[in-house]
Amino acid sequence: MKSADYPEPFRALVRELRRLPGVGPRSAERLALWLMEDGERPSALSAALTSARDGVRHCAECGFFCLGEHCDICIDGAREPLLCVVERATDILPIERSGAFRGRYHALGGRLSPLEHVGPEDLRLGELTTRLERGHFTEVILALSTDVEGEATTSYVVEMLAPYGVNISRLAQGMPAGGGLESADELTLARALAGRRQAGVV
Ligand SMILES: [Zn+2]
Repeated sequence: MKSADYPEPFRALVRELRRLPGVGPRSAERLALWLMEDGERPSALSAALTSARDGVRHCAECGFFCLGEHCDICIDGAREPLLCVVERATDILPIERSGAFRGRYHALGGRLSPLEHVGPEDLRLGELTTRLERGHFTEVILALSTDVEGEATTSYVVEMLAPYGVNISRLAQGMPAGGGLESADELTLARALAGRRQAGVV
């Protein structure tokens, strides 16, 4: 006797949900059942997914999320002439929420990682130097991870920016060792920004 199971379309839904980060088989099944309880839920979720996919993109300037070509931060004329370099677009919001920084950002799109075959050409480094040539930044703040790859990336960027005649600093102590910005709370981030130290000399 063949044991009973959910119909194939439902199992296909569970399989898709299981592909989401952090969702195990039991959670996927619960989510699928919840979605099927109300005919409106799948439509609303589907519409939100499509709208996010079609509408949200990365800012051409800094790499943050936006709807048009440029994000709200880049079109904000009241920002200070400071440029904070982060690894990922998702690192920008924790700094914004800390309230300790009112400058602009540049997301590199990752960090140097020989093991994962990520080299300088894979990061938004050319875009960074273009911004420095074009803009009037008084300081570049490197807010990268403090693990080995983050440190290697910081060193690389410091060397790369040396000819540009801009003050370069990096976040102070207080950042979790070996951690990225996502694992830091807002107070830690605010203190790390306030206590940043020079990383390169003009
Ligand atoms: Zn932007």
